[in-house]
Amino acid sequence: MTLVKTPPPLSQEVDLSKTYDAVVVGSGAAGGMAAHVLTEQGMDVLMLEAGKKFDINQIGQELRSMQWPYDHPRRGDAPPGYHSLSFNEYTVRNPPYAKGSTFKHVMSYVGGWGGSDYVKNILVDEKDHPYTGTKYAWVRARLLGGKTNIWGRLALRLSDYDFKAKTHDGYGEDWPIAYADIEPYYDRVDRYLGISGVKENLPHLPDSLFQRPNKLTSAEVKVRESLKKMGRVLTPYRAGVTTDGLKHNKYRSKCYGRGACDRRPGGCDIHAAFDSPTGLIYPSMDTGHLTLRTNSTAHEVLVDKNTGKARGIGFVDTATGKSLEAKAKVVILAASTLESARLMLLSRSPQYPNGIGNSSGHVGHNFCEHVMGPGVTGLVKEMVGKPPTLDDGRPGGFYIPRFRNLKDKQPDFIRGYGFEGGSGFGIFPGSANGTPGFGAQFKKEVRDHAGAFIGLGGFGEVLARYENYVDLDPDEKDHWGIPTLRFHYQFGDNEKKMCQDMVVAGREMLEAAGIDVIGTDDQILTEGWSIHELGTSRMGTDPKTSVLNQFQQSHDVKNLFVVDGSSHVSASCQNPTWTIMALAWRSCEYLAGEFKKGNL
Ligand SMILES: Cc1cc2nc3c(=O)[nH]c(=O)nc-3n(C[C@H](O)[C@H](O)[C@H](O)COP(=O)(O)OP(=O)(O)OC[C@H]3O[C@@H](n4cnc5c(N)ncnc54)[C@H](O)[C@@H]3O)c2cc1C
Ligand code: SF4
Repeated sequence: MTLVKTPPPLSQEVDLSKTYDAVVVGSGAAGGMAAHVLTEQGMDVLMLEAGKKFDINQIGQELRSMQWPYDHPRRGDAPPGYHSLSFNEYTVRNPPYAKGSTFKHVMSYVGGWGGSDYVKNILVDEKDHPYTGTKYAWVRARLLGGKTNIWGRLALRLSDYDFKAKTHDGYGEDWPIAYADIEPYYDRVDRYLGISGVKENLPHLPDSLFQRPNKLTSAEVKVRESLKKMGRVLTPYRAGVTTDGLKHNKYRSKCYGRGACDRRPGGCDIHAAFDSPTGLIYPSMDTGHLTLRTNSTAHEVLVDKNTGKARGIGFVDTATGKSLEAKAKVVILAASTLESARLMLLSRSPQYPNGIGNSSGHVGHNFCEHVMGPGVTGLVKEMVGKPPTLDDGRPGGFYIPRFRNLKDKQPDFIRGYGFEGGSGFGIFPGSANGTPGFGAQFKKEVRDHAGAFIGLGGFGEVLARYENYVDLDPDEKDHWGIPTLRFHYQFGDNEKKMCQDMVVAGREMLEAAGIDVIGTDDQILTEGWSIHELGTSRMGTDPKTSVLNQFQQSHDVKNLFVVDGSSHVSASCQNPTWTIMALAWRSCEYLAGEFKKGNL
């Protein structure tokens, strides 16, 4: 198969006098999936994306997946004037973090992951996009495809331990769906986008329809074997990457294991890793039913005064600041969990004085995500001095699924956490900076140890709580004059206790495998660090305590849908993107059916 490098024409000349069947706000995982499902059903869709577009070749130039550090003039660093926020900056100050900065451009911490030049046009400039309130490391990517251009690709399913978590432990709310409702849609996402992994038959981490898995290193196999005796599992990274190729998608290649995944934030220039433009948006444009307008920053869902229904979107041209309107019969918000909540709160009208879809007062509330930071590093003694092997030629290392509070009941915390980890040789031996000495002996020391480390980092469920929320700041505005979000959000005791357990359990697992633990980290990273924000417009059966029904349709406004992570009732501990897309598929199929019946 020849990889098509030229996307369909991404015209800016969009007919705004026309009333589209549906307008979708946002082009990331959620918006891309909405466009795919609705255009397949024959609906005429307008997609508004606040950021700019990169065509496939530009993305190649931007990400430069195969560029060696020594071929870059600054080893990957952005030019002078750019600054990536550090953990300390997030910790000692409250947002807006770029306020008063002497740097011309300020990026979130992701820019500091060994290659700020590769994300300087992808991450938002915090100077243009401020927010206020409690500490929160908010990572945003405003461009066609959103965060999917740089996501980590760990693609996991949720189970009934998550959907029916309240039934299991009494806390919070159950989702209005069960695993059986979403399973067929997970299957469709797997087949359409490709996912690699190994079947494990775990009730708490259902298997996908996997393509060829990544290989584990010998150290990882050793831990996997040892964990079996503890009733725990280490499985190859379940990557949202096509390893066997996808015959139906001419914009994506299969993974050649070139190792670039591990070199810097994101960036597969042959699109083996899923991203929304090549995975969903270009194929939708090829149907002839999708119109795309980039540089379109939505600030309001427009309402028909007579019917109370949504009638379109008010937006500004991001480049010119010109105010414009798009008209549609159905409005679909997919601007990401926090931006969709902001849009709903911004959409105040006589009919909806608290913001559209917010009769419950729950928009912005029950905000949740994953807590991370604690982890363990081990030294695999028998690997010291071994000749190098190509271990970073794969899209990820391994995953250890949740093992707490399944059949057992922990005394100190409810819910659970999983570990992401990796081992073996990488492009740059992480241990070099901490190795003492110099000259030939130093180099030998670094080389001998380069492939002998193994690391685990926990990702835990943050409980959804009404008192964790976002609202609009009454004073602060972004570059376009749109009121910004204000955070009222903090980790609680359950998260802190869970983090203590991550360190204990991580040590126990490595030691059981005969691996020396040479470092533990018990520091919890700033709220937001996981980039898995969820739950600001949760689904439910009761319109008084939830915002959306099981099809992500507003209880208040029947032609308004919110198809991103806002709808999640609880965070679970599994990474959310595959679930976001499976839910969006299910909801948009329902939407198209209702639209055809004239019910919207
Ligand atoms: C570095 C990194 C690593 C990650 N790793 C993983 C992982 O391993 N596994 C996992 O499951 N998830 C991961 N994630 C999270 C994943 O990227 C998100 O869950 C996913 O992208 C969410 O999709 P979305 O469509 O809701 O939001 P986004 O992908 O953020 O897309 C939202 C889009 O809406 C646009 N938009 C926002 N506001 C407006 C507006 N007002 N008007 C018009 N358009 C607007 C944005 O520009 C953006 O393009 C990672 C994220 C990052 C950044
Ligand atoms: S390892 Fe595979 S998915 Fe990652 S950048 Fe290389 S080809 Fe793409």
